[in-house]
Amino acid sequence: MVAGNWKMNGDIVSNERLLNAVRHGLEGAPLPGVDVLVCPPFPYLSQAASWLGNTAVAWGAQNVSAFPNGAYTGEVSATMLADLGCRWVIVGHSERRQLSGETDQVVAAKVEMALAQNLGVIVCVGETLQEREAGQAEAVLGRQVDAVVPVVAKLAPERLVIAYEPVWAIGTGRTASPEMAQDAHSFIRGRLAAGGYAAAGSVRILYGGSVKSANAASLFAMPDIDGGLIGGAALVAEDFLGICRAAAVR
Ligand code: PEP
Repeated sequence: MVAGNWKMNGDIVSNERLLNAVRHGLEGAPLPGVDVLVCPPFPYLSQAASWLGNTAVAWGAQNVSAFPNGAYTGEVSATMLADLGCRWVIVGHSERRQLSGETDQVVAAKVEMALAQNLGVIVCVGETLQEREAGQAEAVLGRQVDAVVPVVAKLAPERLVIAYEPVWAIGTGRTASPEMAQDAHSFIRGRLAAGGYAAAGSVRILYGGSVKSANAASLFAMPDIDGGLIGGAALVAEDFLGICRAAAVR
């Protein structure tokens, strides 16, 4: 899987160009075996739906409310996302954990809401530089994974994706080495299994953090790296398509 996280970028005109280029790029040279999706900001989900409907490219959201509906000003519910044709939602991105104070419990509640609407979830986990340097990376990843395992326990592996995104690699141009990322992915898979998630072996674990078309192939070659969650490079069609192609030759 290659998922583009557009974050808070884009406008109607530039989105149209990007969606069109991604769509045509993949229609012209389909990549069987690679699930491609884009996650624009909420106001542009309908635009994604009209450009990508009836294509192999899926669209999803970057966040979802932990509540079903009601007096939650500014929130967007899982029901609304499903209504807009989203098949996926990113939950617990580090920017939300850090900037919006999302705790492991909030992330688990959001995952539960998304699953109730049959959305697939991309659950982000990752340690900060300080945590890595203090030798706490596995403790942090373990805690973040453990928080969602009870909620996803019965979920088919096709609908559960974990994104390992070391916070120090996001938007910094600093990528984890393939070996370092592989170690983290293997730890995460083991932790899912230890927590009782029977299908841990087939869950896709994406790497995220300054993935570019130039470094994607070496990351995707690792046995436990099943694709990428892409930020900056997802805003440039040729870069994003290059990463998708790297996933296809894995
Ligand atoms: C992200 O925010 O999910 C991300 C991976 O960003 P970037 O690719 O820009 O590091």
